[in-house]
Amino acid sequence: MSEQTAATPKTEEMASPFSSLIIPFATVHLLAFAAPLIAHCSWKLAGLALGVYYARMAAITIGYHRYFAHKTFRTSRAFQFVLAFLSQTSMQRGVLWWSAHHRDHHRYSDTEKDVHSPMRGIFWSHVGWILSSEHTAFDESRIKDLMKYPELRWLNTWHLVPPAALGVALFLVGGWDYLVWGLFVSTVMLWHGTFLVNSLNHLWGTRRYATTDTSRNNPLIAVLTMGEGWHNNHHYYQSSANQGFRWWEIDGSFYLIRLFQLVGLVWDVRTAPRKIVENTIKAAAQRGERVMPIGPMLEAD
Ligand SMILES: [Zn+2]
Ligand SMILES: [Zn+2]
Repeated sequence: MSEQTAATPKTEEMASPFSSLIIPFATVHLLAFAAPLIAHCSWKLAGLALGVYYARMAAITIGYHRYFAHKTFRTSRAFQFVLAFLSQTSMQRGVLWWSAHHRDHHRYSDTEKDVHSPMRGIFWSHVGWILSSEHTAFDESRIKDLMKYPELRWLNTWHLVPPAALGVALFLVGGWDYLVWGLFVSTVMLWHGTFLVNSLNHLWGTRRYATTDTSRNNPLIAVLTMGEGWHNNHHYYQSSANQGFRWWEIDGSFYLIRLFQLVGLVWDVRTAPRKIVENTIKAAAQRGERVMPIGPMLEAD
C-alpha cells in the first residue's frame, strides 16, 4: 500500500457534529430522570405525565404528520394554526422544519438521502439525526404550500414559544410538580415515543405491503403513538388520514380526526381507497386469517 493511501485524509472539516438542540435535549432528560429527587411522586402526577404525553402525541400525528406533512384532510386557517401550535409543544422543532424533513423521508425512504434511515444504524434513525448538525436546515421548496402562511413561518422561527407556554400553564395550575411531570417527564416519553416510528418501526414488525422501504406494521408502537405504528400501511398509501386499514388496527388519531370532522373542524378527510382495503382483506383470507368486514370508520367519503 502506498503512503498516499495509508495517510488519513484531513480534508473534511466539521464545525460541530451536533446541533444546538443537544443542550435542551440533555437538560430535559436530566430533569426527567431526576423527577423522583426534585419533585413529589404520585399516581396523579404519573397520570398527568401520561395524559399530556397522549394529548401531544395526538397533536403531532394529526398536526405535523397527517395534516402538514401529508395533507390528508382540509381545515380552516385558524384550526391549522391551532394544530401547528399544539404540535410544537412537542419540542421537535418547528412545523415547517418537521414537514419538510418528513416529506424528504418519504421521497428518499431508506436511501442515502433519507434523513433518518435505520440503514445508518438504529441510534442514528432514533435520535442521532435530530441532534446532528446535518439537518438543522430544511429545504423550503418541499413545503411551498406551507411557506405562504406568515403565521406558520413565525411559529417555526419561534418554535420554543408553544412548549414555554405549556410549561407556564402547568406551573400556574400545579406548581413545580406539574412542571416536572407534565413537561419534562412527559416530553422525554414523547420524544422517544415519536422517534420509535423512525427507528423501530422500520425494523420490527410485519410487512403487509412490499414497499420499496423497510417500513413495518407494529401494534405495540401503534398503541404508544396514537396509530402511527401501522407504518407499512402508511408508506404504502401516504395520503390516507387513517393508518390502520383494518377495523382492529387501533388508530386513535384517526378516531379524533373523524370526531373533528363530525363537529365541522376538518373536512375532505382522505382514506385509502376501498379497493386497497378489500385487497388487503382478500389476501388475509387467503392466508387463513379470520376476516371481518370493513368498519364504517374506514369507508371512504
Ligand atoms: Zn409520513
Ligand atoms: Zn417511515
